[in-house]
Amino acid sequence: MISSPAAMTNCRRCGSLILSGYSEGVWVRVDTTPLTPEQELQALLAGRDTYDLHPLGLPRKPFLWHRTSFRIRGERKWQVLAQHVCPPGPHFPRPPAEPVELVIPAGYSTPDQPPF
Ligand SMILES: [Zn+2]
Repeated sequence: MISSPAAMTNCRRCGSLILSGYSEGVWVRVDTTPLTPEQELQALLAGRDTYDLHPLGLPRKPFLWHRTSFRIRGERKWQVLAQHVCPPGPHFPRPPAEPVELVIPAGYSTPDQPPF
């Protein structure tokens, strides 16, 4: 299953800032705002999938992993992002821009990888 680092781009339809990339063979598009557990529950109830943002590789790049019920039940180690859904109403997107590759600074700390 192919996974690729998520790149920052604009939604072609509504123009919102989103992250997109391959996650285990599936092309996914997520919002850039991390969710609290309560917000994640609301997103799931609204039928949106949620994803873990894993910094992987050197230099660190963001990869998206689908949060299965097993992963949701486990400890929260990563930022959680929800599948992008265009807001209702008319959209006036800007012309598409080139996706921006993201590199996470070395100082980015996670519970498992202390910054030293
Ligand atoms: Zn959109």
